[in-house]
Amino acid sequence: MRIAVLKERAAGERRVAATPETVRKFIGLGADLAVESGAGENAAIPDSAYADAGAQIGTAPQVVKDADIVLGIQAPDPAILQGARKGAFVAALFDPFGNADLVQAYAEGGFEALSMEFMPRITRAQSMDVLSSQSNLAGYKAVLAAADTYGRAFPMMMTAAGTVSAAKAFIMGVGVAGLQAIATARRLGAQVSATDVRSATKEQIQSLGAKPIFVENVAGIEGEGSGGYATEMSEEYQKAQAELVSSHIARQDIVITTALIPGRAAPRLISDAQIATMRPGSVIFDLAVAQGGNVEGSVPDEIVVRHGVTIMGYSNTPSHLAADASALFSRNLFNFLSAFWDKEQGRPLLDEEIGNAVRLTQDGAIVNDRLKG
Ligand code: NAD
Repeated sequence: MRIAVLKERAAGERRVAATPETVRKFIGLGADLAVESGAGENAAIPDSAYADAGAQIGTAPQVVKDADIVLGIQAPDPAILQGARKGAFVAALFDPFGNADLVQAYAEGGFEALSMEFMPRITRAQSMDVLSSQSNLAGYKAVLAAADTYGRAFPMMMTAAGTVSAAKAFIMGVGVAGLQAIATARRLGAQVSATDVRSATKEQIQSLGAKPIFVENVAGIEGEGSGGYATEMSEEYQKAQAELVSSHIARQDIVITTALIPGRAAPRLISDAQIATMRPGSVIFDLAVAQGGNVEGSVPDEIVVRHGVTIMGYSNTPSHLAADASALFSRNLFNFLSAFWDKEQGRPLLDEEIGNAVRLTQDGAIVNDRLKG
C-alpha cells in the first residue's frame, strides 16, 4: 500500500495534506509513504522532517508511481497522477458542485475521487471533517485580520489620556467559523452580537457571551435543513432579515460574514446601501468571498473601500494559518482512512454510509447521488 503526498499547485495554497505525525501513523498501519520534495515548505515542514518520519522524498512522478492512495488539500490535475495504480483513491477537496470538469476527468482517469467536502455530518465522522477543522481556523483568522485593519482598539481601555471605547463586532452566520469568530472577538475585548437563520444557534451565541440578533415573528421558518446545513430562506424572511440587519449594522464597527449554503452561491447579506450607513473606519470581513460573497462589492484578496468602510476577504483563509490548518487537515485524512483500515488486506475498505457519501467517481463513472441528482 503506497500513499503519495503531492505539493499543492493551486495559486495561494500553502497547506499540505500530510505532516510528519500522520506519515508516522500511516507507516504504523503498514503503508509506504512518498512525499513530493517541497510539499511542506509553505507550512513550515522541511523535507528532512518527512524523511525522519520515514517517508521517501521525490519528484511528483516518482512519488505518484504505483500509488494506491494520493492525499491532497485541493484535488490535483489528473494529468499529474499518471503512473498511479488503476482505481487509486484520491482524497482531497474537489469542489464537486463548482468543478464538474475535474470530477469528469477523474472518472475518465479511472480514479476513485473521495471528496472531503462531502463527509457526512454525523457524530462518527466529526474527526474526519475538514470543513469544520478549516472553518474554525478561518473564523479566528477573519477576526484577527479585521482587527489588524481596524484603526481603533477592540477592548475598552481606560488610560491617563482618556477612555477608548470597546469595538462593536457583529458576526453573521454562526456555524463553525462564526462560533470561533464570536469567541475570538470576545477574547479581544469587543462587544459581540451575532445572527443566523438557524434558530438553534441562539443559545450557542448566548453561551459564548454574545447578543443574538434574530428575526422574530416570521412564521414557519426554522432555517435548518439536513445535516445541520442552512436552507435557502423565503422572500418574507429575507426582507425581515434585511430590515433587522440594516438597523443593527449602522451601529457596528466590525462585521464578519460567514454564511454559506451548500451547492449554491453564498447568500447576499449586506448591500452597498447598508454599507453606506456604517461609520467610516469600520471593517467588514467576508469569509464567503470565494463563494460569491455575502457582501456587495467584496473582492477576493483585495482591500475595497466603500463609503469609508473597508471590505476584505481572502480566497483561502485557512491557508493564512498554513501550519495549523495542515496539521488538522492531515489528521482528518488520517482519521478517515484509518477508521476503515483492513489489517489483513492492508488497505482501507470504506463502508456504505461514509464511502457512498464521499465517493464521486468509481470504475470510470460519476457515482455520487448528490452529483447525479
Ligand atoms: P456553513 O459553513 O454551511 O454555513 C455557515 C453558517 O451560515 C451556518 O450557521 C448557516 O446557518 C449560516 N447561514 C446561511 N445562510 C444564512 C443567512 N442568510 N443569514 C445568516 N446566516 C446564514 O455551516 P457550518 O459551519 O459547516 O455548520 C453548520 C452546523 O452544522 C453547525 O451547527 C455545526 O455545528 C454543524 N456541524 C456538524 C458536524 C458533525 O456533526 N460532524 C460537522 C460540521 C458542522
